[in-house]
Amino acid sequence: MASEWNMPRRGDACAGCQRRFAVGAPVAVLLYEGTAGYERREYCEECRPAPEPQPVASWKTRRPAPTAAKARPFDREAIHGIFERLEDAEEPQQVQLRFVLALLLWRKKVLRLERTLAVNGREAWEFVAAQSGVSHRVVRPDLDEAQLEALSAQLEQVLAGQTSGSPAGSDLPGQEDCDG
Ligand SMILES: [Zn+2]
Repeated sequence: MASEWNMPRRGDACAGCQRRFAVGAPVAVLLYEGTAGYERREYCEECRPAPEPQPVASWKTRRPAPTAAKARPFDREAIHGIFERLEDAEEPQQVQLRFVLALLLWRKKVLRLERTLAVNGREAWEFVAAQSGVSHRVVRPDLDEAQLEALSAQLEQVLAGQTSGSPAGSDLPGQEDCDG
């Protein structure tokens, strides 16, 4: 079950220099595809992430106030933005991420599923943005429904900053968050 994800770190600190983020500080968020799902890494302005592995997506945000961290709302606009930036993605990992993001946005009623169709021999789902009416064709990756559902649930947690993934992802560069 998705609820069994471990939480090795809260992501309060920069993955590079380990310094804690001040409230309101700019944070670069990088999303990686790990062996057991998506992983989130956050960096301060001074630190540059390692060139490898390549993130599947990245975006900028600001450290929210601690009180907001408990029940941080699903940031529809930010996530819609990540989805839109992946529009022309061709890397398999990004194609997969785009589909999983579409599922999340569909569940949150940001996107409406219009129909499914075949594009170049692959199954694509056509979504329409509820507000703008813009339509998006999203190629479905070769994963079954249960796998997609699990990835979608896990990604939602990762995007909300509730977990940075599983300990299985310890092949990524980084150190223990042990200083205060
Ligand atoms: Zn740093």
